[in-house]
Amino acid sequence: MSSGSSEFAKGQEQVADRSVLQPVFRFAPSPNGYLHIGHAYSALRNFEMARAHDGRFLLRIEDIDTDRCRPDFEQAIYEDLTWLGITWEKPVLRQSEHFSDYARTVERLQDQGLLYPCFCTRLDISRVVSGVRDWPRDPDGAPIYPGTCRQLSQEERNRRLASGQRAALRIDMSQAIFEAGMLLGWCEYGEGEEPRDVRAEPMLWGDTVLARKDIPTSYHVSVVIDDARQGITDVVRGKDLFNATSLHRLLQALLDLPAPRYHHHDLLRDAAGQKLSKSTRAKSIRTLRAEGVKPEDVRRRLGFDPVIHR
Ligand code: GLU
Repeated sequence: MSSGSSEFAKGQEQVADRSVLQPVFRFAPSPNGYLHIGHAYSALRNFEMARAHDGRFLLRIEDIDTDRCRPDFEQAIYEDLTWLGITWEKPVLRQSEHFSDYARTVERLQDQGLLYPCFCTRLDISRVVSGVRDWPRDPDGAPIYPGTCRQLSQEERNRRLASGQRAALRIDMSQAIFEAGMLLGWCEYGEGEEPRDVRAEPMLWGDTVLARKDIPTSYHVSVVIDDARQGITDVVRGKDLFNATSLHRLLQALLDLPAPRYHHHDLLRDAAGQKLSKSTRAKSIRTLRAEGVKPEDVRRRLGFDPVIHR
């Protein structure tokens, strides 16, 4: 894998240097349900790429959402991956054990003047946006934040915080893009085709939340910290996260973190063309196992060598 001749070379060069030594891959599931066949594809893809390139393969448990994540789901991840013939380095990084690191990073962005407290509820936001036709939405389908709390004076913010009102922290996107001060992008390897330059469009996310009211972080903050901390050279994940990479590249630039290479793979779809996910009730690996399906069958069906190499 070369890092490609990228116009967005800054972070990519740093990673290329490291990857000359050994590429590092990761599979980063959230234990908020059982793994389904789409997860199996992503995990096998990472694992087999690591094997093919003499690289390392790490498993990371993304369990910052302590309400939705459960220890039995985490246990099931270990069991299902082992059943599929996947092995990983230990110890496993569990994000719930690193809240203070994420909070420190959020503080750093706050010190740079790039975050502001937002007291709005979902209802407050929907009241503002519902009256406007075709209000823009972010790639996850949430309405772009109308900026209500960006306008609050410092006194008003202090008053509300002192009175115990809880606040999320939102990024001031225009300010952050200005601060990053360079053309951002990444080298996209897709399904293994020739790498291409993709220009990052963090503006698609508007003033998105970087620290939630209930958790001192967000997926976006934790994922960029951990990809850097674990020296991930190659992020292999589904195309559903393609647009998130724009935001990740912005955060990496603001925090001086290297950019991995990105490989956003196709998503498995069901017969009706719907994305397989927990919400569409895709069959879990657990269920397939209970039905007597063999790991070789799953591996073959997903296009991998059915033979498990240990
Ligand atoms: N934890 C995320 C998920 O389960 C994946 C994160 C990533 O690969 O960047 O969808």
